[in-house]
Amino acid sequence: MNKDDLLGVLQAIYDQGQASRTGLAEKTGFAPSYISALVAELRRRGLVEEGGRSPSRAGRRRVLLHVVPDLGHLIGIRIGRANTRIVVTDFLGKVISLKKVPTEISQGEDHVFDLIDRELGAALKSDNLVKGIGIAMSGVIDRNSGTLLFWPKVPGWNNVPLMRRVQTKFGLPVVLEDSVRTMAHAEQKFGDAKGRKNFVYVVVSMGIGAAIYVNNRLYLGADDLAGELGHTTIDERGELCSCGNRGCLEVYASGWAIINRIKSGLQQGVHSSLL
Ligand SMILES: [Zn+2]
Repeated sequence: MNKDDLLGVLQAIYDQGQASRTGLAEKTGFAPSYISALVAELRRRGLVEEGGRSPSRAGRRRVLLHVVPDLGHLIGIRIGRANTRIVVTDFLGKVISLKKVPTEISQGEDHVFDLIDRELGAALKSDNLVKGIGIAMSGVIDRNSGTLLFWPKVPGWNNVPLMRRVQTKFGLPVVLEDSVRTMAHAEQKFGDAKGRKNFVYVVVSMGIGAAIYVNNRLYLGADDLAGELGHTTIDERGELCSCGNRGCLEVYASGWAIINRIKSGLQQGVHSSLL
């Protein structure tokens, strides 16, 4: 039995959520008897278990397999400018707990580090099955080194080795990723983009960002910055942006920009029927 085949079948079951032996044989091109042997080995190792049955078509209903949910739990922490959210899920993404706390970013870097340590520590203490931590942030990230390069509108957060810091503190595998990319990944796994190989996910919030999936993979682009839609120049002589360039889309169309324009309009005596 080939180890790569074993891993390939495990990955296929994980990707599909639930899969029948017949479906796996069709997907991988392996003979049904070989699939049965691989599945038996995965079950013997406690990685995969049988669950429900496929909806009845003609003939027998097929037994569906899924990855064992308690194979490992995962912590996701999203550090936002206003709030930080901490979620614990099982291996299949089912939410076990979810908590939201104010980030209080104005209190400085050390305050936020303490918050991260405290919340991750508490989540780990209450769940001894946790096998990894994912961190999502809206700043510009070097995903290879897990460094936050800078965080627009949050002064002082430059070149923060966040992934290494959390890894050292808790001794678990850690991934740091741009929050828009994590949201796009969640949409593809659980939401509106489920089953889609090519799509663009756009977030217009306080900032503007996008994630691009091409042929089922996140498109990283040159310098790993594909999808930084908010920092696309639309007016070369426009206002200065927090990224250092001029006239970025975010300067005009983001939540921050809209609030600032309303504020300055009101200060200049523009009449509003709402405010
Ligand atoms: Zn910009």
